[in-house]
Amino acid sequence: MVVFLDDDGRYLEWLRKHPDGFVVNAARRPRADYLILHRANCHTISGTPARGSRWTTGDYLKACATAEAELRAWARDETKAEPTGCGSCSP
Ligand SMILES: [Zn+2]
Repeated sequence: MVVFLDDDGRYLEWLRKHPDGFVVNAARRPRADYLILHRANCHTISGTPARGSRWTTGDYLKACATAEAELRAWARDETKAEPTGCGSCSP
């Protein structure tokens, strides 16, 4: 798995290369109360962000992996919590 921080270009490239992968959106310092698991093709975490927002350079990071289990293990290591599934892409 890979964590993208301050690198929207490489993050979006990873999404293009791994359309069947998974992404956890987390705070820059991951917290148990904000860990959202998405499918890589979820429209809420790709494409052009709403004006003024960015993917990996603001308050959030993106942890990406081809295996959902890797992201769950990462979330437990970082915060001792499980990520919550996105309501839009239902991973
Ligand atoms: Zn989603």
